[in-house]
Amino acid sequence: MIASHLVTPDEIDVNWSDVAGLDAIIQELRESVVMPVRHRELFKRSKLFRAPKGVLLHGPPGCGKTLIAKAIAKEADMRFINLDVGVLTDKWYGESQKLATAVFTCAKKLQPCIIFIDEIESFLRARGVADHEATAMMKTQFMLQWDGLISDGNSIVIVLGATNRPQDLDKAILRRMPAQFHIGPPGEVQRKAILQLILQKEQLDSAVNLRQLARGTVGFSGSDLKELCRHASMYRMREFMRERVSKDNQPDNEENLDDASDQLVISM
Ligand code: ATP
Repeated sequence: MIASHLVTPDEIDVNWSDVAGLDAIIQELRESVVMPVRHRELFKRSKLFRAPKGVLLHGPPGCGKTLIAKAIAKEADMRFINLDVGVLTDKWYGESQKLATAVFTCAKKLQPCIIFIDEIESFLRARGVADHEATAMMKTQFMLQWDGLISDGNSIVIVLGATNRPQDLDKAILRRMPAQFHIGPPGEVQRKAILQLILQKEQLDSAVNLRQLARGTVGFSGSDLKELCRHASMYRMREFMRERVSKDNQPDNEENLDDASDQLVISM
């Protein structure tokens, strides 16, 4: 599809085990979104136990919203359309309305399917903010299609939005997203769990104390913690290269380095 990136469950390399420190939210998502999709045959008679047609993940940047969105698709065995809103809202692109329809037609054909919209507030923000006419028409079309989906009890398509600014979303949009989850900044226990996950396959110096590290990283998001670990490993890599070069007095070639991986111990 022109305006988006389509991924099948096989291509998604993220599942619940890649999300740390959010067990309670995972449990809720498992029950309210994943189970009704995975076991739809079992529950097809129930009108209550159905997957929601709109799910909103909100919270500060870098705290795992996109990660969770992909994990939902993987765990529920759904295709995943990552909607590139920029193309849809490009006012010079006269075909936006048709594209909005095409997104839903495509999702229904590919169902079970998630239409993922990152920064959904930039696309479906509260009214009163001046929109280019073509954008306004495209949005109306998008809403019409979404309503069609909501009234169609049989389709398994979920519009999954992520935002840092839920307060900027149109009330009409929030109504269409009955399942809303706050993915907040990680506390100390969660930061430790995230660090453990990021560093689980790395060789750590025995002096590394993850609990202390978690305590000293107040205000860090999961993404910040990942960057911190990446910097620590790069720092060690640079030090290691410097040591090797000065020892041998010649630059290492890749063959020399292959058997030295056990010396790459990260300290923080
Ligand atoms: P943005 O609002 O900027 O789009 P986001 O909330 O969608 O951010 P992600 O893109 O999901 O954040 O997170 C970025 C990266 O940070 C992830 O790919 C992952 O490596 C790491 N990360 C964030 N939160 C967690 C977590 N709870 N568990 C494990 N890794 C995490």
